[in-house]
Amino acid sequence: MAIENTVVTDGVMEIPSWWKCPSGYEELLAAAHALGKKELLHRAAISDQESQYPIESLTAIANAGFGAVTIPAEEGGLGKGLTGFAVLAETFAKYCASSAMCWVMHTAAVQTLYSAGTNEQRQRFIPGVLKGEIGALAFSEPATGSHFWNVVSSAPRQGNGYLLNADKSFVTSGGAADWYVVCTSSPDAVSEDKLMYLIVEKDQDGIEFFPFSAMGLRGNSSGPMKFKDVYVPVNNRLGTEGGMNYYNDNVVDPLFLLGSAACWIGIAQGAVDAAVGGAKKKVHQDTGKSVASYQVIRHELAKAQILIDSARSMLYRAADEMDRCLEKGQLLSTSLYPLWELKTYAADMVIQVTNQAMQVAGGRGYLTGQIEKFLRDGRAGALMGPTNEILREWIGRTLVEVPWFD
Ligand SMILES: Cc1cc2nc3c(=O)[nH]c(=O)nc-3n(C[C@H](O)[C@H](O)[C@H](O)COP(=O)(O)OP(=O)(O)OC[C@H]3O[C@@H](n4cnc5c(N)ncnc54)[C@H](O)[C@@H]3O)c2cc1C
Repeated sequence: MAIENTVVTDGVMEIPSWWKCPSGYEELLAAAHALGKKELLHRAAISDQESQYPIESLTAIANAGFGAVTIPAEEGGLGKGLTGFAVLAETFAKYCASSAMCWVMHTAAVQTLYSAGTNEQRQRFIPGVLKGEIGALAFSEPATGSHFWNVVSSAPRQGNGYLLNADKSFVTSGGAADWYVVCTSSPDAVSEDKLMYLIVEKDQDGIEFFPFSAMGLRGNSSGPMKFKDVYVPVNNRLGTEGGMNYYNDNVVDPLFLLGSAACWIGIAQGAVDAAVGGAKKKVHQDTGKSVASYQVIRHELAKAQILIDSARSMLYRAADEMDRCLEKGQLLSTSLYPLWELKTYAADMVIQVTNQAMQVAGGRGYLTGQIEKFLRDGRAGALMGPTNEILREWIGRTLVEVPWFD
């Protein structure tokens, strides 16, 4: 007896679309796939092999209207909120993980500028972003490593501005971005929280960037940067002089945790899709059977897909709640705990799933190509701050009710 509403074609079960994409975002998903196929995929391998920043892909993303996806439509953005951001990040990552990660950091930088900036700053930077200008976040410092919220750099007042001296260890889009949100500290701040954000524009004197040579995400240009005696006028300070931890918790972290988790999910799905395709295509001449016909292979694929879909469920549940928070004027920091779990899980999951995909693909998967690239790209997730060690500690502390930091 057929069960109503269950779609079965030629005996093959169809996966319902809502399981892969939140309702109402199907058109956005289709547009992202079309863009990925046309603009991102064919440049991804070159960008990886030559450590080439994917500027053409990022320009194509902006030209498609995705330069300011979380900014309200009445301010020139796409107004697709955090769910739209997650749908796009996940999809882009399947086609070019470097483009997706640069775009996630860019989107977080744009939202930071929008949330903490004045009207004048929005009007100065958002129109450029819509045309393809790139923003970046320069937070992590070699001196404090993963503890990116504890910077040692500082920018004392000078004249009608600040004199910034900062060493940054990793800046995605470093040397390629049009402007950077540099997180530093203000010795002049009256508040106990000395954290300060300054916008530094690409042509300013005193900026140096260094090449990024890494295992994966090789197009990212995530190398170190130095800001030496950079004069930043006061109208390029975002928000207050000190007191910017509030924006770490309510903008930078929530967007980074959500967007990066979406990338790890997209990479994992890309790897499984490639493994499925390969397993169906490869036929052993001696047995006349495809790799996909071995039950043990199908079980491996099933286990991997269940892991991806668990992470995806967490992703869209968190994104939906965050959109609801914004609509109600509530703080995104109320979603931090679920986002810690989501990022930790997605970044662990992508390591496991890309390994499973390689195992299914066999020696062919180990050859330079799609699956080994997914494995290398995805490996960055657990290392990117807040790292998985730090997040597990915060989650554990929350469970046993020890303060987040002490
Ligand atoms: C590809 C890539 C892109 C990046 N892009 C950016 C960017 O655009 N902007 C930016 O600001 N930063 C960026 N980062 C930096 C990132 O966010 C982390 O700060 C960085 O990866 C930490 O590396 P580290 O070598 O300084 O780690 P370390 O701090 O030296 O950590 C080494 C190990 O110790 C663990 N550890 C550290 N502290 C603790 C603790 N308190 N408790 C338990 N374990 C701990 C870590 O988890 C890790 O396993 C990027 C990093 C990568 C890899």
